[in-house]
Amino acid sequence: MTSTLPSLDFQAAFATRVRGMTASAIREILKVTQQPDVISFAGGLPAPELFPLDDVKAATARVLDTAGPAALQYSTTEGHLPLREWIAAQGGIPASNVQIVTGSQQGLDLLGKILISEGDTVLVEAPTYLGALQSFQPYLPNYVQLPTDDGGIDVDALEDILKTTRAKLLYAVPNFQNPTGRTLNLARRRRLVELTAQYGVLVIEDDPYGALRFTGEALPSLYALGLELAGDVDRNHVIYSSSFSKTLVPGLRDAWVQAARPVIQKLIQAKQGADLHTPTLNQMVITELLPILPRQIETVKAAYGERARHMMTRIAADFPTGVHHTVPEGGMFLWVTLPAGLDTQAMLPRAVERRVAYVPGRPFYALGGGENTMRLSYCTATPEQIETGIRALGDTVRDALA
Ligand code: PMP
Repeated sequence: MTSTLPSLDFQAAFATRVRGMTASAIREILKVTQQPDVISFAGGLPAPELFPLDDVKAATARVLDTAGPAALQYSTTEGHLPLREWIAAQGGIPASNVQIVTGSQQGLDLLGKILISEGDTVLVEAPTYLGALQSFQPYLPNYVQLPTDDGGIDVDALEDILKTTRAKLLYAVPNFQNPTGRTLNLARRRRLVELTAQYGVLVIEDDPYGALRFTGEALPSLYALGLELAGDVDRNHVIYSSSFSKTLVPGLRDAWVQAARPVIQKLIQAKQGADLHTPTLNQMVITELLPILPRQIETVKAAYGERARHMMTRIAADFPTGVHHTVPEGGMFLWVTLPAGLDTQAMLPRAVERRVAYVPGRPFYALGGGENTMRLSYCTATPEQIETGIRALGDTVRDALA
C-alpha cells in the first residue's frame, strides 16, 4: 500500500541539542567483546554473585507486609524520608539537603539540566566518566579538560585555567575514578575546593565508589571540605552524589544528591518533570536493607580488593616493560597506559582474536586524547580468567610493539 502522506524526516525533527548525540562508544565496543569465550575486562557492571539476593527477597516481602499499598503508591519527589534521614545522618547534615534520585545517572542529568546553559564552561577530568559526558552533552556545555596524573587532577593546571576561563562547573570523581581507578590526594582536594570557591565555580563530586576502599586511608570528601570552608550547609559550593548501585544493587536504581537548599529545591522541580519520584517500593526496600549494608560493603571490598591485587600481580608478570598501570585503592577499575604511538582502539580486534577484551581509553576524553590507554575492570573476573586474560593481553601488546 503506497501512502500519499509526505515522507517523514526523523533526523530533521530531532532537537538541535541532541543532534550531536551518538550511541555510547562503549556500548558499541561491548558488542564486539560479548562474543562467547572472550574474557572481558571491558564491562562496567558490579559482580552479580555478590548481590544479597536472599536479603532483597526478604526485605521486599517485609516492606509489602508492613507498608501495604503505601509501598506501591506515588510518593514525594524528595524521596522516602527514613532513607533521606539515614543518608543525612551519615554526612551530619539535615534531611532537607538530601534528594533521592533514580540512579546517580539521573542526578547527573538533572544537575546538567538545572546548571548548564548552552556554552557554559564545564571542567572535566581527562579522562572522565563517560556517562557524565552523555548526561551533560544535551545541555551543550563547552568542555575544558583538566590534566590528571596518579594523584588525580593537576591543581596547578586547574588554577591556570581558572585564571583565564570563566568556568561554571567542575565535575570530578575523586575516589577510585571511573575509568582510571585513581584517587585525588588530600592536599589537592583542599586546593581544588579552595580554588573553585574562590573563583565561584560549582563542583559536582560524583562518588559511587567511595565506600569500596580496600586499602589505604579514607579521605574527606570535597563536600565535607566545602562545608568546612563555607561553615553553612546551604552555602557549600560542592554538590555531592552517591549511590547504592555499587554497594547494594544497581537494579533498584536508588541514589542521592546532597547539596545546598537552593540546588535541592531546583532539583526537586526538575525531577518532578522527569519521573515525579524514584520508585516507592525500591526506596523502601533499600531502607529495609540498610542494616546489612556494612556487612555487604565488607564482602564487596574483600572480593574486589583480592581481584585487583591478582590482576596487578599478573600484569607485573605478563606485560612487556614500558606499560604503566594505576594502583586503585578501591572501586572496580584500573587504567593501563601503553607506550606512546600504540592505539588501543586499533589493537582491540587483535585482543578479541586472542579472546580477551578491554575498553579503549579514548571515549573517556571529552576533547580527545588517550589513544594509548585502556580501562580494565577486575571486579567480575575469576582468578583463572585474570590469569588467562592478562597473559593474552600481554601477548597482544607485545605483538603491537613488535
Ligand atoms: N557515576 C560514576 C562515576 C559511575 O561509574 C556510575 C556507574 N557506572 C554512575 C555514576 C551511575 O551509577 P548509578 O546510576 O547506578 O547510581
